[in-house]
Amino acid sequence: MLSIVSTPIGNLGDITLRAVETLKTCDAIVCEDTRVTGQLLKLLNIPRKELISCHGYSNPRKVDDLIRRLDEGRHLVLVSDAGTPGISDPGYALVSRARSEKIPIEVLPGPAAFLAALSASGLPINRFVYLGFLPLKKGRQTLLRSLKEEERTIVFYESVHRIERTLTEIADALKEQPERNIVVARELTKMHEEVITTTIAGLSEIAKSITKKGEFVLIIGAQ
Ligand code: SAM
Repeated sequence: MLSIVSTPIGNLGDITLRAVETLKTCDAIVCEDTRVTGQLLKLLNIPRKELISCHGYSNPRKVDDLIRRLDEGRHLVLVSDAGTPGISDPGYALVSRARSEKIPIEVLPGPAAFLAALSASGLPINRFVYLGFLPLKKGRQTLLRSLKEEERTIVFYESVHRIERTLTEIADALKEQPERNIVVARELTKMHEEVITTTIAGLSEIAKSITKKGEFVLIIGAQ
């Protein structure tokens, strides 16, 4: 059995009861960084168990080995460093392979940064499009230009290293829609949680003044 388990995006209290029970009872945990997952187990008082590091899960031999263990009847848990596995994180290769091999899979839903940001945003979220991280080079300008035509709410991730550049580029790409709403959510569920609501017209100012620390989700409102 493969259990796909979401873990907190900052606040340990967001772990679910099912997640704790499953982490306790499984045979091994497939994770990104064994130090991060080891620390999570420690904070949850779960006795240390086998942690299998599997960064991209793209190495077919690694996935073969995990599938073999699952076939032998082992109970493996898939986690990422934070949030939901497979959402801008590894997991896809293992889950899709396990599906095609007809291995029993269960999912234990929980935190995901884009969902937390959407629900806190105050923007219309009955329809939205999730873009993950914007491309760094190839396709970036094309994608930024295409945002003008998107009628649904748009949500994506950005790292601290690029937040100022990305906000400035969005302000430029959407300058013909100055009233369009944009929300910058920072450090959700953590001590310095911040949700800033502005418009495209006010975005250049926010790009300069926002605290350049932590993790960010950006949401552009529907037109
Ligand atoms: N799998 C994760 C999920 O379900 O949200 C996403 C992992 S992705 C590698 C990491 C990105 O998620 C960060 O760069 C940031 O954009 C966003 N993120 C994660 N935790 C966050 C938080 N507490 N507040 C705001 N954004 C967060």
